[in-house]
Amino acid sequence: MMVITSPGEMTRFAESARASGKRIGLVPTMGFLHEGHLTLMREGRRQSSVLVASIFVNPTQFCPGEDFARYPRNFERDCAMLQTVPVDIVFAPEPSAMYSPDAQTWVEAGEITSGLCGPHRPGHFRGVTTVVAKLFNIVKPHLAVFGEKDFQQLRAIQKMVRDLNFDVEIIPVPIVREKDGLAMSSRNAYLSPAEREDALALSLALRAAREKHRAGACCAEEIEFAAIRVLKRMRGVAIEYVEAVDAETLARHPSLERPILIAIAARVGKTRLIDNTVLQP
Ligand code: AMP
Repeated sequence: MMVITSPGEMTRFAESARASGKRIGLVPTMGFLHEGHLTLMREGRRQSSVLVASIFVNPTQFCPGEDFARYPRNFERDCAMLQTVPVDIVFAPEPSAMYSPDAQTWVEAGEITSGLCGPHRPGHFRGVTTVVAKLFNIVKPHLAVFGEKDFQQLRAIQKMVRDLNFDVEIIPVPIVREKDGLAMSSRNAYLSPAEREDALALSLALRAAREKHRAGACCAEEIEFAAIRVLKRMRGVAIEYVEAVDAETLARHPSLERPILIAIAARVGKTRLIDNTVLQP
């Protein structure tokens, strides 16, 4: 496994891999890896002959007051985990190598980012789509793997790829959960033992939504209420939003004849957690 930190060197490597007929897969991450990330890596490994994992805590996707400086990092441990997949290249640039001080160009995916996390994290999705566009230009992948854990991010990237004609196949991977249902996340490391218990409310709320849907809910609001009721029972959980939206467009007031996304964002103590599930008609 080779570690590359220079974008120029990464591109030279990618160009020679492409010239020799290799299929390049990219799995973008912010590091502090867990089993969810490794599941993406294994999917990438299955579908590519050169697998690149990027580790980059992207400053432009953190809003003022968010956890950029204290975001958990452990490069040594990440590399040891990536070696088990195995990954061929770890691309780990410094922020200064990715953004020149005078950079002013942004990629924005439009309406798909206007709801759900959009209003709560101003500038976040613009940072995500911009860095992913840059990673695509630097790594030149044939395919890139993203988790459904960040469902709105996945939809924003799919939109960007279509709108800007990126020749990259986007491979989605379902959410990987702990045994008790908590969606795996690097931010789970922030949780105290008591908060870890409270955090279960998110997956339990999604389960309640699923049961309400299966029992024949009349409308999306009824499904949202079923989830909200479970979250409100847990004292340590502050709801940011609970929304049922169209799973393709992320539009409000979805038809129950189509797949719908139930998405939750909530604070457990100081930690912001998200989770979601897609319900089929
Ligand atoms: P992050 O390091 O949090 O930016 O995540 C990197 C990639 O891993 C993103 O595509 C995430 O959606 C994905 N990911 C993170 N946690 C999970 C999980 N529990 N299940 C599936 N994918 C995940």
